[in-house]
Amino acid sequence: MKKSDLILIAIAVIILIPIALLLVNTKSGDKALVKSDGQTIDVLDLSVDGTYRYENKYGFNIVEVRDKNVRVIEADCPGHDCINKGFIKRNNESVICLPHHFEVIISSDKEEYDVVVQ
Ligand SMILES: [Zn+2]
Repeated sequence: MKKSDLILIAIAVIILIPIALLLVNTKSGDKALVKSDGQTIDVLDLSVDGTYRYENKYGFNIVEVRDKNVRVIEADCPGHDCINKGFIKRNNESVICLPHHFEVIISSDKEEYDVVVQ
């Protein structure tokens, strides 16, 4: 193997490793922003399943994270529009509970790619 080949391989490794790490990071970077009265009150990691209860002066909402999907499973709002919305998972999708001024929005670090797909 020539010396110039080794240098090329070394350069390729140096360039590819950060790109690979970046791809892994953006893949696991999916999250949901929880907003109350326009303020972000919590950020949920979609790779961790769980249920979360949020309460403000208008009422409460219980949010479930499961298999990278998010939904509102319980709330004391009239109409239950937020519960009827069901699961969301796409970037920028949101569940809004108007009576509670409550909102859950899917967010991601790889936003540009999803916009192209949409
Ligand atoms: Zn609601």
